[in-house]
Amino acid sequence: MAEGYSGYNEKLSEKKTVLVTGAAGFIGSHLCRKLLDLDHRVIAIDDFSSGSYKNLEEIQDNIQIIEHDIRTPIDIQCDEIYHLACPASPKYYQKDPIKTIETSFLGAKNTLEIAKKNKAKIFFSSTSEIYGDPKQHPQKETYLGSVNTVGPRACYDESKRLSETLFMEYSNLFGVDIRIGRIFNTYGPFMDKDDGRVISNLICQSLQDKPLTIYGDGLQTRSFCYVEDLIEAILAFMNQDECKGPMNLGNPEEISIKELAEKIIAMSCSSSEIKFHPLPKDDPQLRCPDISKAKNILGWQPKISLEQGLGKTINFYKQALVIDDVSVNSN
Ligand code: UDP
Repeated sequence: MAEGYSGYNEKLSEKKTVLVTGAAGFIGSHLCRKLLDLDHRVIAIDDFSSGSYKNLEEIQDNIQIIEHDIRTPIDIQCDEIYHLACPASPKYYQKDPIKTIETSFLGAKNTLEIAKKNKAKIFFSSTSEIYGDPKQHPQKETYLGSVNTVGPRACYDESKRLSETLFMEYSNLFGVDIRIGRIFNTYGPFMDKDDGRVISNLICQSLQDKPLTIYGDGLQTRSFCYVEDLIEAILAFMNQDECKGPMNLGNPEEISIKELAEKIIAMSCSSSEIKFHPLPKDDPQLRCPDISKAKNILGWQPKISLEQGLGKTINFYKQALVIDDVSVNSN
């Protein structure tokens, strides 16, 4: 572990009113729980289109929940903002691409307006998708990306790219205190089992002894960060003033999707087989963050290995599937 990393918990202990947009989503709900642990007041905004109320159930009495579509302006008093609102799974963001573009761009603008008015520091959850199908590997923040502007992923990729520009212009023009974090593939408990992303799909299939769906030949790679590590990185990033970003936040442990599937089958003692399906258009062949910047500036690096994280995630889905089974059978 790099040095200096543990300091942020202490520094954050000053009580703040913190707004989280997209709070009912996978990462948003983890962040809300952590902010509560750090004794902040949490205001959670979500329109519950891809996020789930269930994710906030456990903490609902301790936070303020506002059901709101971030495409519409809203006025909220706060000291700090984490702007996460936007569907992030290809399955969801491609369902209504115009809405995705609006949510991403108008959501960024409306949230930046809150930051400007309140002089609040604001974190923007950008994405590794802004690198597209990268020609540089691993990806450094200086790499400008390779995105197909008219492909099926463009509604997400391009609107996130434009939002980064918007954040930078609010910083340049109005002095808004921004942090742009480029989040790479993240996984862990509380990702919806029907989210459509690879780890939730493969674990749920494996636990049910169903065939594991691999798109393409499975030789494409991703680098998966356990959600607790990511949350630590986001908080550490917010709690320093040296760098406003963009900064890659992710785990550089790279694995092919086929190896991932084999690992999940073995770890969940499953009798599932692998079934290959066509590769979706513009599916990136490689993805791995260069996290030197985060290591140097934040003194952060992931602590949880893929095996450890998968173990915890498999346990979570084991329980989630049992609960679902019970409720189906009792209906
Ligand atoms: N993938 C797969 N099977 C699935 C879901 C996804 O093989 O059931 C592949 C997908 O084509 C991509 C990788 O796994 O190459 C990661 O997909 P995911 O949707 O999790 O995130 P992405 O990084 O593509 O946004």
